[in-house]
Amino acid sequence: MRELPPAPARLPTEVVDAHTHLDACGATDAAGVRAALDRAAAVGVAAVVTVADDMASARWVVSASSWDERVFAAVALHPTRTATMTDADRAELEQLVRQPRVVAVGETGLDYYWTQHDPRCSPPEAQQDAYRWHIDLAKRVGKPLMIHDRDAHGDVLAVLEQEGPPQTVIFHCFSGDAAMARSCVDAGYVLSFSGTVTFRNAHALREAAMLVPDGQLLVETDAPFLTPHPHRGRPNEPVNLPYTVRDLAALRGQDVTELAASSCANAARVFGFGSPVTESDFSATDAAERS
Ligand SMILES: [Zn+2]
Ligand SMILES: [Zn+2]
Repeated sequence: MRELPPAPARLPTEVVDAHTHLDACGATDAAGVRAALDRAAAVGVAAVVTVADDMASARWVVSASSWDERVFAAVALHPTRTATMTDADRAELEQLVRQPRVVAVGETGLDYYWTQHDPRCSPPEAQQDAYRWHIDLAKRVGKPLMIHDRDAHGDVLAVLEQEGPPQTVIFHCFSGDAAMARSCVDAGYVLSFSGTVTFRNAHALREAAMLVPDGQLLVETDAPFLTPHPHRGRPNEPVNLPYTVRDLAALRGQDVTELAASSCANAARVFGFGSPVTESDFSATDAAERS
């Protein structure tokens, strides 16, 4: 396995990685998950949401969330995997999403990049059907909808509008321009920024990131993909999140502590866990879920 970039300096205050894929990072068992979270905690990344993309990883993320108190899960079938979605898959996803440590329905949405580049990818119609089903699921279980949107901005927003959005909508790895960001902000959606916002050629995205109010902004790694500047191309893990936080704070002309604290408070609010992340908060969340 290729080596991680050098660990960033510890952040002055804790943050949450709002979207990552621990299994794809190679942390496939309890010891691996704990080691990845220990590396992250050492630089101020206190908790992560690990996200499923197929049925096997949907089962895996729920298990992983029981192995380490710093791990929460999000469950859905990734838009590119929806062509063969069955009724049995829907029933199982619904059962998994209802687990207390699953904090979002995701990642769902539309990916028109892969429909053009890989013939095995689900066609747009299958993606839209699955997206509609996941929107309804989020409303039924009362959990945030975590959207994946690649080259599909118009349809992602249109379908959401047609179906009626759930109470909390998160655009993971936000990739739109300033106009799209403005529409999302006005609709009350939450925008989560990954390493792509640190890429020096991402002019439209960097412009978009400047106009998002503090209360609607999350940060994420989407690891193992999208390693932030200046380590673009190297392996990614939650430990790299501070690179993005510092770069984003500089871009927004903001103090790092302020951005870290507001994004952490947003994560605690939208995902329904306490801040700072402690055992007692988990029990409170679990109790609320059971009642
Ligand atoms: Zn995604
Ligand atoms: Zn992802």
